[in-house]
Amino acid sequence: MDLLKTAHKKIILTFLFAIFIPSIIIGYISLNVFYKHRQSVERLLHSALWSSGENAIETIEKTLIEYEKRVLEKDNILDLIQDEKNEANNRNWISLTKKYQGKLFIMDSDYQIISPLSGSENIVEYSRLRETPANDYQKQMKIAEYYEFIEKDYARAISQYKKCESVAVSLEQKSRAQEGRGRCLMGSKRFEEAKQIYHQLTNKFGYVYNNAGHPYGIVATLQLYELAQQNKELKKGFELLFNLYKKINNGEWLINRAAYNFFTTEIENIFTNKQNLDAVQDIISSFRSLQQKPKEYKNILDFTALLEKRIIPKIKEMLDLFPLNYKVNTGRVLAMNNEEPYLVSYMILPNFQDDRTYYGGFYWNLDSIKHKIIPNSLDRLTRESDFHFKTLDDRDSNSNGVKDGIISEGNLAMSYREFPLPWKLLITHPDIQDLIESAKWQNFYYGAFIILLAAIMIFGVVLLIRDISRESEATLLKTEFVHNISHELKTPLTLIRLFGETLQTKKNLSKQEIEDSYEIITKESERLSHLINNVLDFSKIEMGKKEFNFTEGSLSKVVDETLESYRYHLEKKGFTVYKEITTDLPDISFDKEAIASVLINLLSNVVKFSPDEKNVTVRLFRADETIALQVADKGIGISKKEIPKIFHRFYRSKTNLGPDSKGSGLGLALVKHITKAHDGSIQVESELGKGSVFTIYLPVSKLQEGLT
Ligand code: ADP
Repeated sequence: MDLLKTAHKKIILTFLFAIFIPSIIIGYISLNVFYKHRQSVERLLHSALWSSGENAIETIEKTLIEYEKRVLEKDNILDLIQDEKNEANNRNWISLTKKYQGKLFIMDSDYQIISPLSGSENIVEYSRLRETPANDYQKQMKIAEYYEFIEKDYARAISQYKKCESVAVSLEQKSRAQEGRGRCLMGSKRFEEAKQIYHQLTNKFGYVYNNAGHPYGIVATLQLYELAQQNKELKKGFELLFNLYKKINNGEWLINRAAYNFFTTEIENIFTNKQNLDAVQDIISSFRSLQQKPKEYKNILDFTALLEKRIIPKIKEMLDLFPLNYKVNTGRVLAMNNEEPYLVSYMILPNFQDDRTYYGGFYWNLDSIKHKIIPNSLDRLTRESDFHFKTLDDRDSNSNGVKDGIISEGNLAMSYREFPLPWKLLITHPDIQDLIESAKWQNFYYGAFIILLAAIMIFGVVLLIRDISRESEATLLKTEFVHNISHELKTPLTLIRLFGETLQTKKNLSKQEIEDSYEIITKESERLSHLINNVLDFSKIEMGKKEFNFTEGSLSKVVDETLESYRYHLEKKGFTVYKEITTDLPDISFDKEAIASVLINLLSNVVKFSPDEKNVTVRLFRADETIALQVADKGIGISKKEIPKIFHRFYRSKTNLGPDSKGSGLGLALVKHITKAHDGSIQVESELGKGSVFTIYLPVSKLQEGLT
């Protein structure tokens, strides 16, 4: 057994040191190399992503900076500030807005908007400021107003207002006096004259603002409309309103938001209320279509409101923090209005006119950056490389809070540097994803391959150990066999020799002694020949030379004869023999000697393994299609674990006892072989300490075979 253990140890050690450990080391090293290689490829690809991203951002921002420069160039600014208070100024603003798809604006150093122009309180102030104080005029005006409002004497008031007109020194003074005259003419129902006055006011003083801050161009036209109503000149009145509406929306007058809303809704209401009049159907429908068109002045009003409320405060704040210097003179802010982002660039414009400092600004159209400028500047990059670019909208639910950097394998998100754009640029490379995917698979295959290899190796070793175990077990058994057989041979030989010598040397032996000696010599030589027969048979079987001599005959006869010839031996050993042989069994074809040796082998085992209760039963009976030969004893029995092993050649149980239990380990191997040759089978029932029953089943069908 120690031999076996050392053999196992040797194999395992050889396997470990010569195969398994080196393989593991090689596997580990190659996996490591493979992993490092993959990592470096990944790093390379990531750096390619980064540099391509940097390049893309730089390209886009360069385009934006160029664009910004072009928008905020001197000529454009000059166009806007040439004549600050000129209403025509907004024309330039509108055309520049169209040209650049974004809105320019100019502020003075006090952050007052200079372009685009819109009506604010300041403008009213401005027109009032221009009023030259003229005591005489003011005196005369007071008298006229007294006649008009207190005395309600319109005739005197009219002539007094006329007097005022003649002493007026400014357009404002003149227009106010004329306005008063118009009012009084209306009050005294002198409509024709009033009409003339209002015509004059619209034509001559259209851009002059009245005390309420409204231009006469608007208020006088509304009076003319009232007059046309009075005269039932419906169409004429509507035409007047139509044109007035158009002019207001085109920014003819720089009225403020409140005035704009007031006048436009006033006019819209008139048109809505009168829409059933057939006579003016044409003009009403043209009014409707006019209403749908973009309203430039409203646009300006909205824009300036946004500038004042949201953007200028932000710029102010930025300029306080980082004042622009004359060299690096562009700043950018991202302002928000109702969660809508606005990007505004601004720059300082020193000494443009009258040594005054202005701030120029550009309110970008973010849609055009996103859908035109960015795709256009990336066009070339996309064509020349395999990288894909996409704008990651911060408002995209799935990109919320995306940080700069690799966001998933092969995807890089980057922010803009110079421009605080509300998006990120997403750079992808389809190959990288493929590569990473294939690397994953490669890893998997590699791992699986290594595991498979290890499994094959371990399997091989297990097979090897099993084989070697069997071999060494056989070797061990053979050694034991040689030892046992020598003993088996020696015992009868010693006896034969002893009694042979006794017969030869001792002359005075009694008759009984002489008979006993002969008998011993005979029995021992029988035993010897049985043993030698077994060995010979076995060696024939091993060499494949064993031949059986099948003849048809009565099995019961052979069994009976064999048992009877052995009975003496058994009884001498103290056994009680029971015989239960059914005689009317069919003849079968069998090898007589072989079957006899089966029985003798079984009986000799009974003798060997029944130390205490010495009795044996031999049965022969019919069992279905077979004839069963059964040998039962009350011996030591065989453990369940051992039963399959006892038929192996040389196998001998380790729990055998007594000197009589010596054996070759060949008996049952022979029994098995012979049974197999007869197409039979063996059954063993045994319990330790209780005895064993060996049953050999030989098929009756053998008879048919024997007959043919
Ligand atoms: P041997 O009898 O020469 O040892 P066998 O092949 O005949 O060889 O028997 C193998 C083993 O089977 C025996 O060593 C013994 O352990 C066991 N054996 C066989 N017959 C019996 C039996 N009748 N009772 C108990 N054990 C038995």
